Amino acid sequence: MSKLFEALTPYLDKSYALSSALTIFSWDNSTIAPKEAIENTSRAIGLLSGEYYGALVNEEVKRLLLQLTEPENHKQLTFEEQAIIRVLNKQYQQMAAIPPEEFQAYNALVSSAYPVWEQAKANNDYASYAPVLEQVIAYKKKFAAYTKKEGQPLYDVALDDYEEGFTVAILDEFFSKLRTALVPLVQKVNEKKGWIQTDFLQQDYDIEQQKSFCRFLAEYVGFDFNRGTFGESEHPFTTSLHNHDVRITNHFYQNRLDFAIFSVIHESGHALYEQGVADEISLTPIGCGTSMGMHESQSRFYENNLGRSLAFWTPIYAKLQQTFPTQLEQISLEQFYRAVNHAQSSLIRTEADELTYPFHIMIRYEIEKEIFSGDVSVHQLPALWNDKYKQYLGITPPTDTEGILQDMHWACGNFGYFPSYALGSAIAAQIYHHLAQVMPLETHLKEENLQPIRAYLQEHIHRFGMAKRTREMLQEMTGEDFCPDYYIAYLTEKYSKLYDL
Ligand code: ZN
Repeated sequence: MSKLFEALTPYLDKSYALSSALTIFSWDNSTIAPKEAIENTSRAIGLLSGEYYGALVNEEVKRLLLQLTEPENHKQLTFEEQAIIRVLNKQYQQMAAIPPEEFQAYNALVSSAYPVWEQAKANNDYASYAPVLEQVIAYKKKFAAYTKKEGQPLYDVALDDYEEGFTVAILDEFFSKLRTALVPLVQKVNEKKGWIQTDFLQQDYDIEQQKSFCRFLAEYVGFDFNRGTFGESEHPFTTSLHNHDVRITNHFYQNRLDFAIFSVIHESGHALYEQGVADEISLTPIGCGTSMGMHESQSRFYENNLGRSLAFWTPIYAKLQQTFPTQLEQISLEQFYRAVNHAQSSLIRTEADELTYPFHIMIRYEIEKEIFSGDVSVHQLPALWNDKYKQYLGITPPTDTEGILQDMHWACGNFGYFPSYALGSAIAAQIYHHLAQVMPLETHLKEENLQPIRAYLQEHIHRFGMAKRTREMLQEMTGEDFCPDYYIAYLTEKYSKLYDL
């Protein structure tokens, strides 16, 4: 290790320790912390966040980073060290570009915006939320303008926060392909409402039994309980302290068996990514998934491409039937497979099926793009939202609660985040196509052998953490840059068959 890099390590270690503490608090708050804890706990969180910021943003780190980026010094670094410098530099430049008083004011605004949004959603009262949303947008645009390069669309800066290398130009092409190919398909599927029987999934399913089956499923796909644990929360999520401590949550509904089953497979996909990061980089700033989209590709690959396939359930459906004999004894594997893949236009993004999901994202993407180009005011957003739902999904939200108020992202200032969800599905389909070329994928699934699949993903994606970027890994693994055609082909083939189109 070079002397210069060595000088940086105490700062990295400290920031890592502080961020771990913050992660534990956040996990705790979402899972088992008592209701009244938050007010006092937030004081500790506030203090630790300040320390965390100070550990990385200071004159000494700034000086070291400057020196470490000089070509002479930079070339003495290992590949991983260079990646750490790249990631830190990016964070640094973003933070340094924003005047501290504006950053503070923005943080205060965002923490006050959240409860306003929550209330507005509960009361179906967009008007009460519009002024604060307007302010959040103004800040986000201002911040993006600070780091915007000559000729770069402002929205590209927002996208870059979540998905390096993906721009408006790439996303426009991606969504335009989806629109052309899938709008007619969704229409045809919508016309066949009731074609697939799903009512048996909404029977009474004992929650303890659901939990034990979910534990089985996590282990089945490869979640390592010696290096991970389970919790329960309102919305399922995954969090990671390092590759030996990865935690996932689930939520159980008595009458929604498929919710828990597919949530646990989804979160296990995220967890396998984090558990698969190489030991050498796990405790460093590059010791986690490389981007939102790549992360989401891993969860969706397991949840949808594998988890909702007939081959996946072939060896284990009998076990599910044995767990719930009265509910599923009369239901065949084929019926079960069809039910968990049924599709129909719906209003709520988080409840959407695999086919209609990308339209929820496309709508948000198009609106965000207009917001960033300044063509639309906050007061026009609900109407714009509803028009797009009508146009793409053929339905209109009866209330803003079921429309524009449904997601918390904008209240939290997360503009540019949504596209990653759709990119994740598209990347997953590309990876699935590739895997089917290099190994007998279906045979592995039918033979209860997920190990080769897991090992391949670990070898080509997981172990690198952030040392490699999304498009770079796709290119190296599949020999091809990001290509949405596989996603379109996958959805078209799957749903044409399911709906006999
Ligand atoms: Zn996810």
